[in-house]
Amino acid sequence: MTVIPGDGIGPEVVHEALLTLEALDLGLGLDVLDHVNADAYLRTGTALSDRDFERVRASAATLLGAVGDPRTDGTDYARGVLLRLRFDLDLYVNHRPARLLHDRLSPLRRKEHRPLDCVIVRENTEGLYAGIGGRLRPGTPHEVALDVEISTGHGVERVIDYAFSIARRGVCMVDKSNAVRNGGGLWQRRWREAAEARPDIETTHLYVDNAVMQLVADPTRFDVIVANNSYGDILSDLAAELAGGLGAATSANLNAATGFGLFEPVHGTAPDIAGQGVANPVGAILTAGLMVGHLGHRDAAKAVTRAVDRAIDLERTTPDLGGDLTTAEAGAAVRAELR
Ligand code: ATP
Ligand code: MG
Repeated sequence: MTVIPGDGIGPEVVHEALLTLEALDLGLGLDVLDHVNADAYLRTGTALSDRDFERVRASAATLLGAVGDPRTDGTDYARGVLLRLRFDLDLYVNHRPARLLHDRLSPLRRKEHRPLDCVIVRENTEGLYAGIGGRLRPGTPHEVALDVEISTGHGVERVIDYAFSIARRGVCMVDKSNAVRNGGGLWQRRWREAAEARPDIETTHLYVDNAVMQLVADPTRFDVIVANNSYGDILSDLAAELAGGLGAATSANLNAATGFGLFEPVHGTAPDIAGQGVANPVGAILTAGLMVGHLGHRDAAKAVTRAVDRAIDLERTTPDLGGDLTTAEAGAAVRAELR
């Protein structure tokens, strides 16, 4: 296993995640790449060296804190680390669980609608974010900008297959095929084929505008939601907020064929609170739990979830979740519930 603590609050929260893993005593060999950060990039001009990339590739999974730094804005630094890993390791699934951590953290008014427990499966390598496009007549009154949304049969099929592979109750496919005809049609065909092959799973389809509304109206009806890169992006942030907020949200970038996973909390480097010892470590701790579950340590993963639930129940949390603990104290509170 490799670990990239990164920048900003990344090292602060990853430290607590690693202490949690240590307490679980799973005998994971940890290769910590603490030299992959913005300081090193500003010194050397290299975001992720070939040597470090190979160390990551050779490992079963990577835990990443967050990368980015105001001093590297406008450079290729963050993209050089994250996008290189995502594309060169072909991490085509973005798996984002959203489970309500505690009733008091839900923004929803009606109690019976609060307890969501779903996974957003976002296509991670195609769509509108593939970087294909260009500009015509830039800087003129008749400027035109093009960003091409790309969907391939292979890309759509494999991410839909992944969604079915993790479904417990049902899969909901979200698109905008009534307005985006070409890509939408492709998603629709692959979706129908996959649904026919899995009659045991309840399948539903929603247009994205309706899906965001339904998710807020009653998220309890969803199990797995699968969508393209941009709709998945939006749906997963919405789901994270319904589940208790950014400080606790987890994600995995996966290649389901090789089994490799890059696990990262959803939050970024949070420069506004970095170095103050107040960042919520729960996102990173739950992400570490998700990772060990993926590596086959199912009981350990459940133990992490239960310990976090109990710490939050006792209001042993950082300020973003309503408590008054520091990062270190909140991490210790989770570990205390592990035993
Ligand atoms: P980046 O560019 O690296 O994504 P950002 O400026 O977008 O950084 P985020 O990390 O996405 O910052 O955070 C957005 C807001 O949420 C910030 O105000 C930040 O302080 C808060 N936040 C993010 N993560 C946490 C956390 N773990 N604990 C507490 N607050 C957090
Ligand atoms: Mg951000």
